[in-house]
Amino acid sequence: MKPTLVLVGRPNVGKSTLFNRLTRSRDALVADIPGLTRDRHYGHGRVGDKPYLVMDTGGLEPVVKDGIMHAMALQSLQAIDEADKVLFIVDGRQGVTAQDKIIAEQLRRKDQKILLIVNKTEGMSAAVVTAEFYELGLGEPYAVSALHGDHVNELAALALAEF
Ligand code: GDP
Ligand code: MG
Repeated sequence: MKPTLVLVGRPNVGKSTLFNRLTRSRDALVADIPGLTRDRHYGHGRVGDKPYLVMDTGGLEPVVKDGIMHAMALQSLQAIDEADKVLFIVDGRQGVTAQDKIIAEQLRRKDQKILLIVNKTEGMSAAVVTAEFYELGLGEPYAVSALHGDHVNELAALALAEF
């Protein structure tokens, strides 16, 4: 069985862009307008000789973007339970948001392996941009740029290391 990675995070942090990088596909639709991403949910990737499956929860994003109950769709919670590892994506340019904290709290309650990914970090110092995200209580954040592809292969290797 291929390990399954699930991408979670609030809208517009770059989940679909990262999905495309991790699956080397251009099938997913990346929208500049938040909420308009309605893409494929599953894709296949490979790092070295390790194949994996990626699930983008973007298609599960709720239509209503505000409110605690909509921080993350219930379906995403189920996807998280079924995954081998959860990649929680946050936006390094926006910093920690209230929605990030709600999602982090939900993730911390779960008995799941979680990797905290700080996206949109092109041109920034990884140490500086990741510093504030330690407060989410999910361990060491990993800086990438999904748009530019910076550190995405290293991220895949890190995520798959134990499989
Ligand atoms: P999603 O809603 O989480 O799936 O986010 P998308 O992948 O649709 O991306 C939302 C917006 O952020 C788009 O305009 C992307 O081009 C942009 N974006 C994604 N990754 C990066 C990145 O690494 N750097 C920058 N600057 N923008 C990014
Ligand atoms: Mg998306």
